[in-house]
Amino acid sequence: MNLFEKKALELDQKDSLAHFKNRFVNDSNLIYLDGNSLGKLPKATIAASASLLENQWGNRLIRSWNEEWIDLSNVISKKIAKLVGAQPDEIFVGDTTSLNLYKLVYAALEFGKGKEKIITDALNFPSDLYVLEGLVNQHFKKHQIEIVGDSNDVLIENEAINKQLDLNTALLTLSLVTYKSSFMYNMKEINELAHAKNSLVLWDLSHAVGAVPIDLNKSNADLAVGCTYKYLNGGPGAPAFLYVKKSLQEKLRNPIWSWFSHEKPFDFNLNYQPGEGIHKFAVSTPSILSLAPVDQGVSVVLDAGMENLRIKSVAQSSFLLALIEEELIPLGFKIASPLESEKRGSHIAIQHSEGYRINQAMIQPKVGAKIIIPDFRPPNNIRLGIAPLYITYMDLYEAVQRIKNIVEFKEYEKYSKKKALVT
Ligand SMILES: *Cc1c(COP(=O)(O)O)cnc(C)c1O
Repeated sequence: MNLFEKKALELDQKDSLAHFKNRFVNDSNLIYLDGNSLGKLPKATIAASASLLENQWGNRLIRSWNEEWIDLSNVISKKIAKLVGAQPDEIFVGDTTSLNLYKLVYAALEFGKGKEKIITDALNFPSDLYVLEGLVNQHFKKHQIEIVGDSNDVLIENEAINKQLDLNTALLTLSLVTYKSSFMYNMKEINELAHAKNSLVLWDLSHAVGAVPIDLNKSNADLAVGCTYKYLNGGPGAPAFLYVKKSLQEKLRNPIWSWFSHEKPFDFNLNYQPGEGIHKFAVSTPSILSLAPVDQGVSVVLDAGMENLRIKSVAQSSFLLALIEEELIPLGFKIASPLESEKRGSHIAIQHSEGYRINQAMIQPKVGAKIIIPDFRPPNNIRLGIAPLYITYMDLYEAVQRIKNIVEFKEYEKYSKKKALVT
């Protein structure tokens, strides 16, 4: 038995979180390394969603609004608040990440009127950049967007951000963990740098929440948004969340005036009067069918404990990096993630000139091998996501052996270079 294989067996036996895998729907012929894009389905969600459909919608119909649904967003928001170190009334779950980002960027720019600089980085999620571009194009025409770094960079130094910050900066917005390289900023340090220049900071937590410990209050964070269908296992397109620091809530306005942000939506007044607190950042009737599963998804993470999950994620990442060094670097792969664990989230990107076709061979093996699902991000990154709730050390060992085989036997040559619509 290979040394790494032996080690994988040992580490799995010692893993105190191993039983959490049973709380998800698993397929023994599949190694799923894409929990950073779409988390697995918790078994508890199946029963809860069936009951939601049959009992709450089917039988109780509109009575369910008062019985169950109107408070659902609050219940889940409180759980997310626990996970990200916020007060229960600083989190709102609903709408989508991009929409929440739009609302908060707009609010921050309006608040920082007179200042005309927006800073972000080239590692940020493109949709986030599009939101900024759109707002500058449509509403804040004098604002300038400064993009720090290059999209192929693995990491950005604090100093590179600091250099751009000045008293004309209305907003700095970054992903805490970047989607491609998995680089993780030090949130507290960045907040301090920005606050020294009187600028607000908006964090996108999508690739961080459920993957790394976050303490918004202790880091003195102003604003944040985040996704629930990645490491929070909320299901495809599940509603996102937003965070507004208590002291900013009365100073900021939601740019989308609608009934769910109204002070009294069910008075049906003809004029708009914004509500108070975090709820004034809502827009519409909550999407109950996709919101409800977020409850079970977040609960599994809370049950395991974010600190415990981080310890396992770091240990698994080190194991995977050692395997990559040993088996894949000699085959032409490069590591495209930071090597220090404190600068990294919970996925590891590797690059190969045949990255796309290798990725295809992993997902659709033609040789009876196990299916391995990572994902691909251009130009040639294969992202290996480590969701410590359900990934085993043996999964990582087998995945690397499989990649090695695909390259050694040039199995990828059987695949087309043409890209699928969703990668
Ligand atoms: C996944 C992700 C999103 C998703 O945005 P949606 O509007 O929910 O589609 C946004 N930002 C980041 C950083 C992400 O990783």
